Amino acid sequence: MEDFKVLQAKIAQYEKENKELKLRLDELNDFVENAALPLHWVNAEGIIIWANQAEFISLGYTKEEYVGFPISNFHADQEVIQDILYRLTNNQTLLNYPARLLCKNGDIKHVLINSSVLWRDDKFIHTRCFTRDITPLIKEQERKAQLIDDLEQNETKLKIAIESTSLGTWEWNPKNNSLFWSNECKHVFGYPVAEQITFDAFSDLIHPEDKSRVIKAMYDSVEPASDETHNLTYRIHRFDDQGLRWIKVQWKKSYKTDRYASLLIGTTLDITDVKHAEEKSAKLAAIIDSSNDAVISKTLNGIITSWNDSAERTFGYTAAEIIGQPILKLIPPDLLQEEVQILSRLSKGERVNHFETRRITKTGQLIDVSLTISPVKDRDGKIIGLSKIARDITEKKQAEQRKNDFVAMVSHELKTPLTALTGYLQLLLIRSKKGGDEFSVKSLIRAEAQTKKMVSLIHDFLSLARMEEGKLQIERREVELHPLMVEIAEDAKFLTSQHTIKLIDCEEIIINADRDKIGQVLMNLVSNAIKYSPEGGLITLGCEKQDGKVKIYVSDQGIGISPADQKRLFERFYRVNNNGIKTVPGFGIGLYLVSEILRYHGSEIVVESEEKVGSVFYFYLRTLN
Ligand code: ADP
Repeated sequence: MEDFKVLQAKIAQYEKENKELKLRLDELNDFVENAALPLHWVNAEGIIIWANQAEFISLGYTKEEYVGFPISNFHADQEVIQDILYRLTNNQTLLNYPARLLCKNGDIKHVLINSSVLWRDDKFIHTRCFTRDITPLIKEQERKAQLIDDLEQNETKLKIAIESTSLGTWEWNPKNNSLFWSNECKHVFGYPVAEQITFDAFSDLIHPEDKSRVIKAMYDSVEPASDETHNLTYRIHRFDDQGLRWIKVQWKKSYKTDRYASLLIGTTLDITDVKHAEEKSAKLAAIIDSSNDAVISKTLNGIITSWNDSAERTFGYTAAEIIGQPILKLIPPDLLQEEVQILSRLSKGERVNHFETRRITKTGQLIDVSLTISPVKDRDGKIIGLSKIARDITEKKQAEQRKNDFVAMVSHELKTPLTALTGYLQLLLIRSKKGGDEFSVKSLIRAEAQTKKMVSLIHDFLSLARMEEGKLQIERREVELHPLMVEIAEDAKFLTSQHTIKLIDCEEIIINADRDKIGQVLMNLVSNAIKYSPEGGLITLGCEKQDGKVKIYVSDQGIGISPADQKRLFERFYRVNNNGIKTVPGFGIGLYLVSEILRYHGSEIVVESEEKVGSVFYFYLRTLN
């Protein structure tokens, strides 16, 4: 009985203890279920058999979507979960094993997994895993890595930029007076790259006249009040060759500890070339301003971009009035076409020299100008604009006019008595021939030839004066070439006894030309052939008929002309500078007239010549038969 009572008491005790144990287990279950730490259990097949609320919340799945599914479905890296399962089934404990889990919304969660296995009777029951979310930590790490990456990239970019501009960099600590120079900075100062620079060594390199200004500016900028970027341009004498250079520095304070700058950080650039270019362009600008010629520049579209004082005096517009305006304002309406032609020549890179034309002033007055126009090119040779130098030649033109009037008048006055003289000479000649006075006949023939020479010279002067005035008239008619050539040949025979004059193949050719003027051309060529063949020889006047035109030539066996002189022969007043022919009289206008008269006939004079062998001058005219 006693035993029964004891047993009953023990049972009651067990029941009480069992109840308490159950209560604690429930509490534990509740605690585990609602723990803040995500927990899950996985069986030997890798299937999730249980997970707590925190796990669902953390990954976003419901119990139905999560429990009963393979744990590998929720891992981003399959090798990782396979390794975890392998380790656990081999009874290893995992401590802070990093993994990436897939959330329901597609996010990836970085976690650290801690796990152990529940074994019972040597049998794998299930794993017990809890995970710690370290996503914010990883994100922060990634952000930092990106920042460092960006910083490194920016630094590289800055380095490349600095190197490509030959920009030197420097740092100066005013407290301990230590100075640092980049290699490029040392290059600027010609300082050895391997050597450390000191502030004293640096100040010794500054030009004596700039030194105190530079040092003061640097010390002043250390003061708390100054916070801007400082700029300074000064001269230095390079360390290696003492060469004078202009440099430009820029710097800013860098605060590290207190309100006083602990560091000045700056750049250095060698601007000697820029300075020289500035000086050069200032000199040029001064020259342009003081020039007596109007110097104007304009864009390719004809908009005026610069205008000097002389342009103002010549055209009456001030720079303020005309810059930005079209150049057409200065061109008389009837000459607008001229501008188009000039532009086309310039666009080929040609320069237009001393081109005489007219322009219009602000008051509407027409002035004569001589223009020199050149293309303005950039560094790559591309034409970016035009510069015009205009000289007012109104006065010169008027003087020329007076001279031409004078020459025309004098020539005319001379011609009248000469015509009378020729008439009397011819009368006397007839008489002498009749009287059989040999000496008089010869003398009179000579006198007549000389008079003709004089007439033709005066003729040339008159033509020149008329031509310059633009008054030379060409009166074309049907002209039989042969009689004209015979006339010239006959006249030529009077001029010389030393030369043989021959005429070939000019019969039956009719040309459309001004007979007198073509006669003047031929007479000039023939008298040159005589003048410049001092040894005598054969002079040929000839024609070669070709389809629709005739080549007319005059050849001689004289001194010939060098290739260099051949190019300039037809310029006004050009005479060959040759000792052998210094005594030959002439004014250098004959060939100029020849080329101009032929130009009026739509033709051109050509020369072929060899020194000491002879010359041939020829031109083509259209034939009418
Ligand atoms: P000018 O004979 O009055 O000097 P031109 O204009 O007729 O002037 O000729 C220009 C120059 O060309 C001459 O000074 C001469 O040197 C050269 N010249 C012209 N014709 C000949 C020629 N047939 N042979 C050699 N030189 C010539």
